[in-house]
Order: sequence, then C-alpha cells, then structure tokens
Amino acid sequence: MKIFGLETRKAYPAKVTIDINTQCNARCVICPYPHLKDKLQHGIMKWDLYCKIIDEYADICYSNKIMGELSYCNMSEPTLLKDLPKYIKYARDKGCFTIYFNTNVSKLTPELVDELIRTKIYPAIHLNIMTFSKANYKKIMGLDFDVLTKNLRYFLDKYPHCLIDVGFFMPFMNEDDRLAVNEFFKDTKVTLHMAEDISDRAQNVELPKDLSDFQSDTKERAFGCSKNRPIHRMHINYDGRVYLCDQDMSLETNFGNVKDNSIKELWNGEAIMETLRVLYGHTKPGKHSIPCLTCTACIDSEKIKILKNPNDYKPRKLLGLPKRMLVKKGLAVVKKRGKLGWIWP
Ligand code: SF4
Ligand code: SF4
Repeated sequence: MKIFGLETRKAYPAKVTIDINTQCNARCVICPYPHLKDKLQHGIMKWDLYCKIIDEYADICYSNKIMGELSYCNMSEPTLLKDLPKYIKYARDKGCFTIYFNTNVSKLTPELVDELIRTKIYPAIHLNIMTFSKANYKKIMGLDFDVLTKNLRYFLDKYPHCLIDVGFFMPFMNEDDRLAVNEFFKDTKVTLHMAEDISDRAQNVELPKDLSDFQSDTKERAFGCSKNRPIHRMHINYDGRVYLCDQDMSLETNFGNVKDNSIKELWNGEAIMETLRVLYGHTKPGKHSIPCLTCTACIDSEKIKILKNPNDYKPRKLLGLPKRMLVKKGLAVVKKRGKLGWIWP
C-alpha cells in the first residue's frame, strides 16, 4: 500500500478506461484529436486483449468486493466501433462494473440505440454536444447539426425514461442557445451539464484565441493532481499500453503493456510509481518529462501548489500535503436527477 498525501492508493485500480478504438469523426476545437490524429497510431483493440483486460479487472472487483467502473475511449468516438454492443455485452456479463462512454452522438443511430436497449446492455451515456447553435455546431465540432438532432429526437422520443447526461461548454452557448436547449430537452429525463473551464489538455491543444478568457493561464504549471486521477483509474490504449491519465492524450507516458503483464503488476510497477512520486512531490522530476509538468487541467483550486517554473520545485514533506489534498471542487448546483437541470462543474 503506497500513500501519497492523504489519499491511499490501493494495490489495484478501482476504475479502468479502455480505448477500444482510437478514431473520431469530429474535429472539436477544444480537443487535441485534430492535432494529434496523424501523430498517433490508430487501431481497434483486439478482442482477445479486451477479454484479458475485462477478465482480470472482474477478478480485481470480485476479490476486493468493489463495484468497478469501466469507461471507453479517452480521445475517440466509441460508437464508430462496429462491434460496440459485443464489447459492452462481454463486460456487462461480468456483473461487477458500471459502464459508460462519451459520444458525440453522430453515430448514436436509431439502430445502435435499439440494439443496446433490446439486448439489455444499455450503458450510461454522456452526450458530448458542446453547443446547441446550428450555426456554431459545425464550426466547433465539425459535425452535422441535423444528424445530431435527428439521433437525439429518436432516442428521447422512443426511450424517454433513459437517463442520459448531456454536456455543453459555456463559452459556446449564448442565451438563445440555452433557451433552445431547454425547449428541446423539456419533458425528458436528461441531466444537462454546463462546463465553464477549458483545459489545454497538458498543452496538447492550442485553443482558439477567442477562448482565452476561459483557459487557465498556461504559464502556470501544477504539481499534483487535484482530482487524483492516477490514484484510482488505469488508462489502457488500444494496443495494451498503459498511460498516466486522460490528459496524456499524446501518450507521453508508457507504464508497460497489459499484453505482457497483469493489470496489478503494471499498477504497482516501478514505472508508474516513479511518476507518481514526482507528481505528489516526493521526488524531483528527473530528466524524463511527464505531462503533469505542463498540465493545467488541475489548476481549478486556488490552494493547489502552482509553480511558475518546474525547476523551482522543492520536494514537499508529507505533512505539508493534507490541506491541498483535502480541497475538493464540488458541484455548485446539482438539481435532482431525472428532472431538467443544469450542473455547473
Ligand atoms: S468528439 Fe470527443 S474525441 Fe472527438 S474530437 Fe470531439 S472531443 Fe475529441
Ligand atoms: S497530467 Fe494533469 S490530470 Fe493527469 S495526472 Fe498529471 S496533473 Fe493529474
């Protein structure tokens, strides 16, 4: 058992994100995908590898008596995968994870929705829409607004009792867009999320200039991860490679491969531990870069330690950490689920 600040890192990941595919059909301006797509290798996770991961993760959940959380795809569109229902079903049959994925909705077709419902493998789905302005939608996501509303309308009309989350970005929404959202989603069970901050994803995306007001000051660098992402969740690329977190979209880190080692071996391996020691202030950054040195995703708390220059870093004493670790960014308003409401993360 390793202790980083007040958080206890268990000897297994409680949550796992698997990139079952790596491609996306959108071109969102806030996402690194358009810039990174030609630099990264793409593929679909092989079925045998997927089964190995799911089997091992199910063993972890059962032996530790936890309900796990499985999600698909850090930076890609899971509904592009033809066999998505087959992948979900295999995991669903284990009976020990909740399952969710984000989607841009363009391929959440009536056929796919019907199949997910018919086969009773319906996962939690977060709809990533960003804006509800026909004029801006194409510009911001590179997708067709009419396809979006057609897919949404089918889903909401045919399965009005399905609980789904829909996410928008405040910088892309004006008053008219919000009214249009309220009108479109009235009488449905959706929960609407409105995000205020835009991250540059550990400097993996260059945001348009007119979004600079919503961006953290990228001259500031954070040490430590306020959401403690790598303490709970393992991220696995389509080829089995394990990487640090959802901000590491350019795959800067490599903690080994689940093809060669078990999930638990990699989770407790020296490669991951070395990075966590730097991240949580136990050792100085070595010559190897980690995305945390350029990450602004966790500068959402005034109390987080911010350094102008990573070289100014001095290792902290364990007793110096608790205050920061205790800071939790809460949801300001969470209206009762099942009713139309805005969530301001
Ligand atoms: S839909 Fe998601 S993965 Fe695709 S470009 Fe947009 S934010 Fe990135
Ligand atoms: S890259 Fe950012 S979000 Fe990811 S572990 Fe490092 S500090 Fe946390």
